[in-house]
Amino acid sequence: MDSVIVHYQEIALKGRNRPWFVERLVRNLRDATAGLDVVRVRPLMGRIELLLGPAADWNAVRERVGRIFGIANFARARRTDRGLEELAAAVIRDLGGGAGGATPAAANGGATRFRVRASRADKSFPHTSPEIEREVGGRIKAACGWRVDLRDPDVDVRVEVLADRAYYSLERHPGLGGLPSGASGHAMCLLSGGIDSPVAAYRVMRRGCRVRFVHFHAYPILSSASQEKVREIAALLTRYQLASRLYVVAFGELQQRVVVSAPPPLRVVLYRRLMMRIAERLARRAGARALVTGDAVGQVASQTLDNLAVVGEVVRLPVLRPLVGFDKDEITREARALGTYATSIIPDQDCCTLFTPRNPATRARRDEVERAEAALPIGEMVDAAVARAERQDFVFPEPGRR
Ligand code: ATP
Ligand code: MG
Repeated sequence: MDSVIVHYQEIALKGRNRPWFVERLVRNLRDATAGLDVVRVRPLMGRIELLLGPAADWNAVRERVGRIFGIANFARARRTDRGLEELAAAVIRDLGGGAGGATPAAANGGATRFRVRASRADKSFPHTSPEIEREVGGRIKAACGWRVDLRDPDVDVRVEVLADRAYYSLERHPGLGGLPSGASGHAMCLLSGGIDSPVAAYRVMRRGCRVRFVHFHAYPILSSASQEKVREIAALLTRYQLASRLYVVAFGELQQRVVVSAPPPLRVVLYRRLMMRIAERLARRAGARALVTGDAVGQVASQTLDNLAVVGEVVRLPVLRPLVGFDKDEITREARALGTYATSIIPDQDCCTLFTPRNPATRARRDEVERAEAALPIGEMVDAAVARAERQDFVFPEPGRR
């Protein structure tokens, strides 16, 4: 097999912007497979072809392509001539050369069950899809002695006829869906090191946004564990969007000032409002058009509707909360699937736990919060934190691994 044929999400990519989306996806595929001897990536009649060089390791290619957004499915494929005779011969050769060849074990009653499905991208091709299926299927049946089963085949042969060649494939893998990374602009995610915010970032990434990250920590008052975790999580998420930027903000000093002047039950809400203001400033500077958080309604005290409102109202950028309606176990399942869970559960000390009372306000009132903030030089505190923010860039594949 010498190619990979990528099918993209048809519906999302229709319309005038389609060539632009496809170009994005092509570029992302090229970047993602750097160093794997993928010789060429190019759009081809409604799909994308990756041409594999002799040193290409299919498992590595499959893993990388499987993490790219905007793909409906993809298959390792072989390119052949369009003649049905040649096409069938090539398929039969790949299937083990006919009767007695290395065919998949047929557990159910002997004969291997197979199916051929064909599609014509080139409608001027003289055979219709059902004709191609019948012709190629008939030859496989004769050569291998297999039985056709359209519902539940052991071997699923797919044939695609393009303008000057055909492709066939024997296995197809689901893609991640979504939109190509970078197609929807930038967003800034508040990334805590917990389980939820990486999943929130992923959800927004999947819709085509390049997500930048900002993390707040209380080092040296607390340990630096959360920073290390967040760097690791940023690197893991970069496997999906290929380039990321993380801002790390020292927040402990600001928290100390809040503690000195504000009533204890309001501390968490005040911390959060500060975080949102700082995140918004960094977002605007980085060209991000929305903030993203891992909030889910009712999960913890700071996530009541009242508190979400009081926290959200200090910023003008839209605040995206893709997990609002998720249960914790659903979020956990997704964190496992995307690979961040193991890092997220490493014990750390989130800065929000610093100096917080056992019973934080669950219904913070705006007038109380504003009164507490009036005693603080909020503008100055935000400026200082933004000025001290450290930046770190991530790319995937890492240059050393290309
Ligand atoms: P997570 O698992 O993402 O930490 P959580 O369920 O623990 O979420 P909270 O701790 O209340 O909930 O945080 C809600 C959201 O606020 C987080 O998902 C994240 O977006 C943001 N946030 C909280 N703490 C930090 C932090 N130290 N740095 C950056 N963002 C944070
Ligand atoms: Mg948390």
